[in-house]
Amino acid sequence: VSGLLAYCRAGFEKELAAELDELAADAGLIGHVRAKPDTGFVVYETFEPLPATAFEGLTDWRRPVFARQLMLWFARVTDLPERDRATPLLDAVKGSGQRFTELVLETPDTDEAKQRSGFCRRFTEPFARVLEKTGALRTGKAGLPVLHVMFESATTAWLAAAMPQESSPWPMGIPRLRMPGGAPSRSTLKLSEAFMTLLGEDERTATLRAGLRAVDLGASPGGWTWQLASRGLHVTAVDNGPMGDAVMATGMVEHLRADGFTWRPQRTVEWMVCDMVDQPSRIASLVAEWVATGRCRRSIFNLKLPMKRRLDAVEQCRALIRKRLASVGPYDLRIKHLYHDREEVTAYLALRK
Ligand code: SAM
Repeated sequence: VSGLLAYCRAGFEKELAAELDELAADAGLIGHVRAKPDTGFVVYETFEPLPATAFEGLTDWRRPVFARQLMLWFARVTDLPERDRATPLLDAVKGSGQRFTELVLETPDTDEAKQRSGFCRRFTEPFARVLEKTGALRTGKAGLPVLHVMFESATTAWLAAAMPQESSPWPMGIPRLRMPGGAPSRSTLKLSEAFMTLLGEDERTATLRAGLRAVDLGASPGGWTWQLASRGLHVTAVDNGPMGDAVMATGMVEHLRADGFTWRPQRTVEWMVCDMVDQPSRIASLVAEWVATGRCRRSIFNLKLPMKRRLDAVEQCRALIRKRLASVGPYDLRIKHLYHDREEVTAYLALRK
């Protein structure tokens, strides 16, 4: 057996399972999804081995909203002996006949599983050497997938492959970002992660440039504004709440005490970002309106999902945006449950050039 393996925040397995089911169906796979609540991962098991073309399009981790990482798994090794986990894992790798460019050992993101992260760190080097000796690992060779070994428990591991350009670059799909000095709230990390995850390098270079203009709706105390101002953008921060002193001291910020739903800029700005806490459908409609009418060229916005049917709420937002932009032109909409998101997702919207 083989199939798809994906990581998520613990508690979001149901949403991720539904997305993997759809992904598999679109790719014509036949199988079933296995998800246990609060385990931090979901498995799709195919009844027939995956075709060699499975990497094409199927495993882009950007597509499922709730996946922190997405891989093709090819073996599940159980009953790993405590004294020699390497031998059975090596046999399974050899049995697959695949070669890899890099080795990553990881666990799901749960308190229980993270107790094994020390072991993963210690075991990486020696296991990589064994794999190199057999030729299964060719460190740095282009065109090969990364080998992920995911320890579900001390005795069970999943072996999976992911192409570097289609997968999250961070172990466990978790970016390690340092809290920047001067930013007044931890939610600054959310926008920083969104820039890295939702934008390509070229897009970051072109649109996060000194001198461009941005609007931050629901800006207080200024974590998101700080991300923009520290890159040299001029920011209009709209919020009835106060802005942090360090943010205002950048000299890049104008603070307006106004309603973010009705306030509009005089001329087109590059960015509108929005972190107002409100119904997802209201936020999605507002953002679509700004983009459709050219108030901003692009937007990153957060959709709060405190409700039970989170995936439905996301789909409803997608539909609202599709409807508003249908007559305007083709657009890019990217939605992701970021590591720094809790009961919420973060999205990017822009018209395509
Ligand atoms: N992104 C901010 C940061 O990084 O510091 C945190 C924003 S906080 C989650 C939500 C903010 O939205 C609150 O400060 C609240 O005052 C503001 N807000 C809610 N409804 C609003 C509205 N209609 N107009 C303007 N601001 C609003």
